[in-house]
Amino acid sequence: MSQQKGKIGVTTENIFPVIKKFLYSDHEIFLRELVANAVDATQKVKALASTGELKGELGDLTVRISVDEKKNTLTVTDRGIGMTDEEIDKYINQIAFSGAGEFIEKYKDVAGNIIGHFGLGFYSAFMVSKKVVIESLSWKEGAKPVRWECEGNPEFVMKEGSRADRGTEITLYLDDDSKEFAGASKVEELLKKYCRFMPVPIAFGKEQEWKDGKYVETDKDKIINDTDPIWNKKPADLKKEDYMKFYRELYPMLEEPLFYIHLNVDYPFNLTGILYFPKIKDRLEVTKNKIQLYCNQVFVTDSVDNIVPDFLTLLHGVIDSPDIPLNVSRSYLQSDANVKKISTYITKKVADRLEDIFKNDRKEYEEKWDNLKLFIEYGMLTEEKFCERALKFALMKNTDGKFFAYDDYRKAIEANQTDKDKKVVYLYATDPVAQYQYIETAKNKGYDVLLFDCQLDAHFVNLLETKIPDSTFARVDADSIDRLIRKEDVKEPEMPEAEKTDLSDMFESVLPEGNHYFVKPENLGENGAPILITQSEFMRRYRDMSALGGGMNFYGEMPESYTIDVNIQHPLIKRILEAKNSSLSEQCASFDSRRNELQAGIDKLDAAMKDKKDEDIPTADKDAKKELEKELGEVRDQRKEAMKGFAKDNILLHQVVDLALLANNMLKGKDLSEFIRRSIEVL
Ligand code: ADP
Repeated sequence: MSQQKGKIGVTTENIFPVIKKFLYSDHEIFLRELVANAVDATQKVKALASTGELKGELGDLTVRISVDEKKNTLTVTDRGIGMTDEEIDKYINQIAFSGAGEFIEKYKDVAGNIIGHFGLGFYSAFMVSKKVVIESLSWKEGAKPVRWECEGNPEFVMKEGSRADRGTEITLYLDDDSKEFAGASKVEELLKKYCRFMPVPIAFGKEQEWKDGKYVETDKDKIINDTDPIWNKKPADLKKEDYMKFYRELYPMLEEPLFYIHLNVDYPFNLTGILYFPKIKDRLEVTKNKIQLYCNQVFVTDSVDNIVPDFLTLLHGVIDSPDIPLNVSRSYLQSDANVKKISTYITKKVADRLEDIFKNDRKEYEEKWDNLKLFIEYGMLTEEKFCERALKFALMKNTDGKFFAYDDYRKAIEANQTDKDKKVVYLYATDPVAQYQYIETAKNKGYDVLLFDCQLDAHFVNLLETKIPDSTFARVDADSIDRLIRKEDVKEPEMPEAEKTDLSDMFESVLPEGNHYFVKPENLGENGAPILITQSEFMRRYRDMSALGGGMNFYGEMPESYTIDVNIQHPLIKRILEAKNSSLSEQCASFDSRRNELQAGIDKLDAAMKDKKDEDIPTADKDAKKELEKELGEVRDQRKEAMKGFAKDNILLHQVVDLALLANNMLKGKDLSEFIRRSIEVL
């Protein structure tokens, strides 16, 4: 054959700068592309042998990779079908027809956005090489060896080669800034990443053995891949142990998974794979993005975010499908119709599997629930379809550690926990230790309390309210129990306004500073707590969500606000009020009469001003009114001071308030030591 020189047939001027620039972010995939081609060529040779087109022994079909650190070269050799000069011309030279031209056309506007995973096949070798040489000998009878060389510009040289053995050898003369790819450990790492499950043995270096106190090389090839991964096998031929072993191979550092699913579809698309449900305790991010996508055993990506629904990225394992397009960008992958179908299918399979375990292995399911819950709740929150399914197999756990399916739980509490508006009130606690007192109070009433202690629960409660008809969710400490589940209209305690204010002033003056309190009298019964500290469900949920990054920072920055119910039916509170009345009765009576006097004066002036335009009202009247109002304010302040003074010296009041704070883990620092000191004194 005479030497041929030519120009590589691309439509655009020069493809090489484009290759370097476009593929910059993912240089290393060149190795996958070359090895995948070698594997393809090998598979083809096997196919030819099986149809009888190719006669004789196939010989060793191992694909071999080697590096020469001194010469800065990397070589991929296969014993596949090889190429004739015509084929090189057609498949390599005319790359305009094999997609590169199209590629440039398609992506010229979005060059900046492209991140890896589209591959230009063979030409990706030029991302890392200044020169590439192909030596090939076709399987065809009478074929002559060919050598093709190209130095990273559109000119190539093709001439008769020297290869004596069927197959192809591709040698990369690495760029100065890509020398790392001549390093054995780097190449091994990449082979493990991209070629770990390719279907033809791939050899890189030799096995080592321990001899006379050190490792020495043997003459046995080191095969870096598993040509027959377990996802291709029949589930019937596999045991649980096989799945667990495979998991450990994939993720040597992770804990055993909870369950697995073996996927196997051939219609309407092809897909095999094994997915594992990992134990997820709290940190979602740590578990994310560990699924590996393969296309016919060739690694495509391990960042499946935005490709499959977010909650599925929490699963681990492998998905292999020839319908996952290999040579495209990630953004293309996301909108690909097959990828969408695959996502829907996996969502369904995951739900099927969970439902199956729920129905048939309830005990195991409950045992593993705590580690599974976050996955399911996250799925329910983010994926409508999954949520509809999961409502049937998600569990609720109560503060006694008992599990219920949603429907069963409703049946269990319906009779007792339906309020006057026919809503079923689901009580929950987030911290059984801190909220102990409230939980006990609810239980004493015969109510059940759920445990919602995971990081998503603040959001999850909102979801459940919309998904479970006629339900409301209330944290046990959000109000007094009779207000949380209102059976009939709660009677407001009868108390004159002035006394309500007195009560509020007294109690507020001894509460810790920095928070906002709303003190009010309540009838909580002789046996109820003397003081109940609660935090409104609404405020707390918004606060929790803003803490989770729900964007509602306004609530997050406000001071904490609490409702302080003072149980005026409780004997201790009665004693405090009596003490106040007896020691302040004269003062209060005089405040009352002074206030009435001032108020009467204001009322009189108001009556005179009524229906008059502002300019017609005499200035003297206006001034007089202002003066009276000012005095009224002073009387109020004096009364408040009197209450504070009383509260300051009333040990019982201090003790009662501090005990309530203590029960809520709100008594700290100076206030706490003051309480201890006072208690000892009293004792
Ligand atoms: P793709 O593999 O996507 O078709 P490539 O640019 O990687 O694109 O390769 C183009 C063609 O060159 C292949 O389809 C194949 O026909 C041929 N080819 C590449 N590498 C080899 C090889 N090692 N042995 C035989 N043929 C090869």
